[in-house]
Amino acid sequence: MVLEPMVNNNNLMDNKYFEYVSCPICGIDNVSLFFSIPYGKLKQKKSLDYSILGINKNTVLTVSKCKNCKFVFTNPRIRKGYEEIVYNESKQNLYKNNKTFIIGTTENINFSRGRKLQYLTILLKILNLISTDNSIKIFDFGCGFGHTLSLAKEFGIDGMGIEIDNFRLGYCKKLGLNVYTPDEFKAEFLNLKFDLIICQSVIEHITDLDEFLLIIDSISKENTVLYTDGVTPKLIKIENKKGKFVKAHFLEHVNYFSGTTLDFFMRKVAFYPFKKKIVLVNGRKIFIPLTLIRILRRDKGLFERIYIKKRKNYEGI
Ligand SMILES: [Zn+2]
Repeated sequence: MVLEPMVNNNNLMDNKYFEYVSCPICGIDNVSLFFSIPYGKLKQKKSLDYSILGINKNTVLTVSKCKNCKFVFTNPRIRKGYEEIVYNESKQNLYKNNKTFIIGTTENINFSRGRKLQYLTILLKILNLISTDNSIKIFDFGCGFGHTLSLAKEFGIDGMGIEIDNFRLGYCKKLGLNVYTPDEFKAEFLNLKFDLIICQSVIEHITDLDEFLLIIDSISKENTVLYTDGVTPKLIKIENKKGKFVKAHFLEHVNYFSGTTLDFFMRKVAFYPFKKKIVLVNGRKIFIPLTLIRILRRDKGLFERIYIKKRKNYEGI
């Protein structure tokens, strides 16, 4: 993509890379202001440079709340088709000469061990929900450095993934993983069906939520299990109180789902929330109602939800 750098501008309404959108969940344009903050007040990561997008420290980022369905989202947000700038051009400094991302270095081995241990918990959670006796196909939506796909491979699980960040995609390919850009995948593989779909720390990034639904609907079948986690509107309040914005980073994180909004959204493609959590005690599966777990767990502004597909046909968005 060839870019003309934007002149620094404090108002995103005048920025050609950004657009004001109606509610991405219900389509209605009736919002109230939920939160706004100048970019300079967010955590400044040295490795990220958004100046090419015309963003400076005084550029005001705004978060809206839909008066109809209560969805909370960044608005204006990066225009469809320009997401690549946020995920590729702005990150050049992050990967340059960084041993963490050079396969085989000690730094890289430590990094992937740590991440794999984190992701193993998630993989086990969803593997416990399905029969593992037959061959299983897993799809990783936003597969990053391929930690989950690598783990799945170890378990003899066939996997595929998509990733928008070109560096990470290249990294996965070097590991021999079956990964594609979203466009490549859509052009060739939308007829494939998967038993498990993982969407880890991804949904908050997605600008085109209709496309997300289209993909997960096309590649799922009855009883496909989908794992997703992300950030809720509460996170913005929590980080505002601390005066530290780390995860509420409004250029990359544009969607703040509450549990009920996410359930409503996923229902459009017949994915329904799994109501119980399975824990293993001495190798035996025990089912615990999620309502109980939510009462016990303090709300830290993060959600984790598992859905199961109930029927085959797509009813439209
Ligand atoms: Zn809405």
